[in-house]
Amino acid sequence: MEPRASEQPPCLAWIPKDFFVQWFRQHGRTFHWRQPGTSPYGVLVAEMLLRQTRASMVPPVWEQLVQRYPGPTELSTASLEELYQIVQQLGLGRQRATALRSMAQAVTERFAGKIPENVKALESLPHVGPYVSRAVCCFAFGEQLAIVDSNVLRVLSRLTGCQLPRDIRRSRARCAWEMAARLLPEGAAREHNLGLLDFAAAVCKPVNPHCAACPLAGQCHHAGAVIGRGERDLEGAA
Ligand code: SF4
Repeated sequence: MEPRASEQPPCLAWIPKDFFVQWFRQHGRTFHWRQPGTSPYGVLVAEMLLRQTRASMVPPVWEQLVQRYPGPTELSTASLEELYQIVQQLGLGRQRATALRSMAQAVTERFAGKIPENVKALESLPHVGPYVSRAVCCFAFGEQLAIVDSNVLRVLSRLTGCQLPRDIRRSRARCAWEMAARLLPEGAAREHNLGLLDFAAAVCKPVNPHCAACPLAGQCHHAGAVIGRGERDLEGAA
């Protein structure tokens, strides 16, 4: 089922409002950049590194980067070769090194070396899109904003049975942003969003999701389809 732009997003009101907050409190990951006192710059660098990488491999690389270049000004004048040597530990190419430096140059030149505090200004930075801008606003500045990346898309898509586009900038992804916004509990966006991301990584994984142990399985479209298929297979075998 593919939602049309004019359609209302499917209702997920059956999920308790604090579900992902509680999940985060019990099972959340403790990355360095999630610690209190991490600068907005540190959060932005982490989000740019996390794209298409395995999160568990990012901490030592992130630490190296923020120690070697403690702020946008230092990063803006980094040697591309040196930056590449650091990011390639994550299997990343020269493009990511260039992206980090271009972002830092724009922050230095246009925002006096200070990470901007709103989505529009963040999105005006090179290589910063709708997900990273909102993640930084939420995690670094405490904004009550929903976030949608490919992992959140996967969870929402399985829960509802909707085929959501992989590209979060596509117009049809509007439905996913609306669903994510409706899930947001009042005043707890940070823990909720972190819980949603960690739930996607640990339970609703890209391959072999742990539906048998998932507290949402009872009403999840994907789990229902899998169970239905299993029952039909059993009937067929009987
Ligand atoms: S039941 Fe399975 S598919 Fe549904 S949310 Fe849980 S892990 Fe994901």
